[in-house]
This record gives sequence, C-alpha cells and structure tokens, in this order.
Amino acid sequence: MSADEPKSPMDDWQKQFQDILRQAHANPLVRPDAAPASADHGERPPPGDDAATAEKLRRIREFNLKPRDIRDYLDRYVIQQAEAKKVLAVAICDHYNHVRQCLENPALRKRDYAKQNIILLGPTGVGKTYLMRCISRLIGVPFVKSDATKFSETGYVGHDVEDLVRDLARSADGNVDLAQYGIIYIDEIDKIAGAPTSYGRDVSGRGVQVNLLKLMEETDVSLQSQTDLLGQMEAIMQLQRSGQPPRRTINTRHILFIVSGAFDRLAERVKQRVSVAPIGFTQTDKTPRADYEYLKLAQTRDFIDFGFEPEFIGRLPVRVTCDALTAADLQQIMLTSEDSILAQYRQDFSGYGIDFTITKEAIAEIATRAILEQTGARGLMTVMEQVFRNFKFQLPSTAVKNFEADSDTVTDPESALKSLLRKNQRSQRNLLKSEVAEFARRFKEEHALDLVFSDEAVDLLVELSTTQDKTMRTIFSEKFRDFQHGLKLISKNTGRTAFEITRAIVEAPDRELSRWVVESFKSPPESGHQKPDAGDRTREE
Ligand code: ADP
Repeated sequence: MSADEPKSPMDDWQKQFQDILRQAHANPLVRPDAAPASADHGERPPPGDDAATAEKLRRIREFNLKPRDIRDYLDRYVIQQAEAKKVLAVAICDHYNHVRQCLENPALRKRDYAKQNIILLGPTGVGKTYLMRCISRLIGVPFVKSDATKFSETGYVGHDVEDLVRDLARSADGNVDLAQYGIIYIDEIDKIAGAPTSYGRDVSGRGVQVNLLKLMEETDVSLQSQTDLLGQMEAIMQLQRSGQPPRRTINTRHILFIVSGAFDRLAERVKQRVSVAPIGFTQTDKTPRADYEYLKLAQTRDFIDFGFEPEFIGRLPVRVTCDALTAADLQQIMLTSEDSILAQYRQDFSGYGIDFTITKEAIAEIATRAILEQTGARGLMTVMEQVFRNFKFQLPSTAVKNFEADSDTVTDPESALKSLLRKNQRSQRNLLKSEVAEFARRFKEEHALDLVFSDEAVDLLVELSTTQDKTMRTIFSEKFRDFQHGLKLISKNTGRTAFEITRAIVEAPDRELSRWVVESFKSPPESGHQKPDAGDRTREE
C-alpha cells in the first residue's frame, strides 16, 4: 500500500491494538511475561477467580487415578472396546502421573520423556472420540477435536495446525495453565498420509505431518494467530479487565495428542501382507475376518509404507484398534450406556412433560436397522431420528403425557403416532378447550377486558385447530389479532368491559368487530357489563 493510499478501519484498529499492548509492556505495574507468578512451575493465577478452573488444576496437580479407575469409569459410558479402554487407561495414567511429577519436581522437565501420544484405529462410530471425551471429562482437562483434512502445510489455505493449540486455550476459557494439560484429538489422520499419487508423493500431507510433529514434541505456540481478530480482541479485553496482558504463548510439552482414522486402505495392505506371510494368523485360523481386524496386525513398517513419516509415527507410541460394533452391542448401548441416545430422547421428551418408555423389542429393531447404516453407533441416532421425528414434532403440543414405543412404532411410526393421538382424542379436546380459557385469562390480565366464549365458539376453535393442524396460539392470533384495539375503543365509547364471543364471531371476527365498533359510536356510554350481541339485537329491533 502506498503512503497516501487511504487506510482501512482495520489498519487503524490493528495499530490501536499494538499500541495498547506496547503500553502494557511499558507499564511497570504489568508483570512481564518473563517473570512468572509462581516460582515452582511458572504458572500465573488463572484469569479471574474461576473456582471451577482452580479445582481442575488442583485435580491435575494431585492426579492419583489408577488405570482400573479409568477403565471402570469408561465402562459406564462406552460399550465394548475392552482392549482400547485398557491401553488408553494405562497411557493416560502414565501421562498425567508424569505431569504431576513434573509439577512437584520441575527438574524432571529437563529429562527426556517419551510422551504417550496415541493412535486410535478402527471403523467410524465405534467410540474412538467418545472414549477420549469421557477421559478428558473424568480428568477435567480441556479437549478439542478436529479433522486432519482441515489443515494445510502453510495455513494459507485451510487451517494451521497451531490453531488446535489455540482452540484448546479457548476451550479452557482462556486459561493457559489448564490448556497446557489438555487433549488434542485429530481425526481422519489417514487422509494426510503422504500416499503415492500419480505425480509422486502427496507433499502437502507430509508437510502437515512435520508441523504436527513439532507440536507433539515441545514447542511454544503463540496464542494470537496473525489472522485471528477475535483472539486479538479477547487479548485487549483481558488487558482492560485485569491490567495484565494475556500470556502470549502456550507450551505443548504436556499436551496429549490423539490421532485417529478408519485406515481402510492400511487394513487392505496389511491383509495382503499377512496373506503372503501369515504373521499372527496361524494356518489353522480359518475364521473370516473383517478387514479392519487386520489393523491390529499393523506394524510401524506398514504405517511408513502407507505414507507416514517415520518420525511422525514414532511419536505415536500407543497404538490401539477399536472393534466394529455388532447389533447386540448397539442394543447394549441403548440399554446400559449412561448418556446414550436413548437417555437423550427420554430427556428431550421429559422437557415437554412427556414420559417416554421403549420396549426391548423396539430397541432390538432399532439396533438391527442401525447396523445397516454402517456408521457404528451413529446409526442409532439416524434411526431414532427417523422413527421419532414426528413424535417429537407433534406430541409437545398435545395432551399426551406418556407413551411407550414398541416394535410396531419402529416399523411403522406414522400409524403408531396416529393411533396414539386417536387414543388421546378426548383429553386432547379438553386440553385445547383449556387453552381457550387460558387465552381469555391472559387477555383479561393484559387488557382488563373479559372475553366470554360461548360453548359453540369453543367447539369451533377446537375444530379449527384440529382440522387445520394449527396450534391454538396460531388460531388465536389469526382470529383475534385486532380485538384488543377494537374492544378497547368500544369500551371507551360504551363503558363495556365484557364481551361474549359467539360462534358467529369466530367465523367472521373482522366483520363482527367492525360492526361492533361502528355500533359503539352510536350507542350512549353504559355503566354495566353487557353482552354486545344482546345490545346489538335490542338496537336493531
Ligand atoms: P468415532 O469412533 O468415529 O470417533 P464416536 O466416538 O464419535 O465415533 O461415536 C459417535 C457417538 O456414538 C458417540 O458420541 C456415542 O454416543 C456413540 N458411541 C459410539 N461408540 C460407542 C460405544 N462403544 N459405546 C457407547 N456409545 C458409543
């Protein structure tokens, strides 16, 4: 840009931001980054007095879980995956024990330590991410997940891998002390293998691996990305709040990295290798195996041939394969896993005061259908959504307060819903009638005018709501939109405060209201509460 070219507001803004930061550093009251607050492990007190964050940090400093504690916790949520649970539990305990020891004895930081970064293999939707989410919740550390395909080597196109570390800080509410013990989960890692292409190796994937490698080792990542205006604004806000510039880097030494992927092509490769030289499978082993089973036999050499840099795969010492889930496993998820999709549906319905139960047969049917989706436990979500879509849409506005889903509900949800609504027809009518009374009550409260609905008028309103498939609220707003103004005017002219709403008025509200208004200009003020109809009739006679 030439000197005389007009500056954009963004240029001004960035200049102001830089000035503020410069002033903050020149201010002797602001502690410089180089002088950490606590001598023991270079930590600053968390921004603000966030008790929850302080508690999480205390738990990390006093980490004392055993691998079996973690496994037991995972068993409450994740079905199957016994091997993965075991391996993860050990790796996690080793990692956070090491963190604790480093905090107790900072001299340990100087020693070499091979971090327990993990590579999780296996089909989609079988609990790879879920395992790690549960673990991060148990330990109380922040967790971020991203897809490797989002990153580019330079960060010009797509995201920069360092964004992950910044996301971690964000998910720790800006608390860098907590973020530095967090967990970063990168899915679809198999997509950045520098696989041979028609024009040689995929260089970009390898570049991303090299960048990730740096993060997995130890590096300081700046918390303000050049392009992150939001982050820069947050920095200013923190400076204004606390008088301290935010700590500007985060060290990745204690961040745990988990990478995962389905690795279908790798499974095929291993299968070929094994069928030539059957390592691991004995000649007597004739059991047909799903391809992913071969991932359990993958060796470092296979990963390198697949397109990973030796250093990269070397930084992922913990390798574990998750199993595919069977229909029986999916049933088990519905029946026993805490926080399963079924528990979520129960809660969704109970949000409307509806008690939702489901038979075992229905669960079995859902599981059978979910398996066909071939997306693991995610299939359960798809099937549940398809089955209960209309129930979730319709039931909240009905009188239904409980219902049980059986296998017929799963096979033919539409008929099941219709029959449920039919069974509740009488209470549904009563509910709609009570909504008319409720409308009149609110109208009186807001406008000090009585609407006295005749039985015929109520019946017609209920009928309209049912046949037109509209809520009472919609019917009221369509029918009586202008009534508050019209009736107030009539009330002013005549002193009337009570109005009978007859069937004729529901049929043609605008016409009737206009007639009333016109009449009200003719009639002398009244003192009592009179039915407009009766009045109208007298005058007409
Ligand atoms: P992925 O293996 O692709 O990472 P996820 O872990 O994200 O799959 O699984 C998606 C969802 O399916 C989870 O949030 C969880 O609700 C459910 N789920 C998957 N596997 C299991 C399992 N083994 N036990 C219980 N729930 C599971």
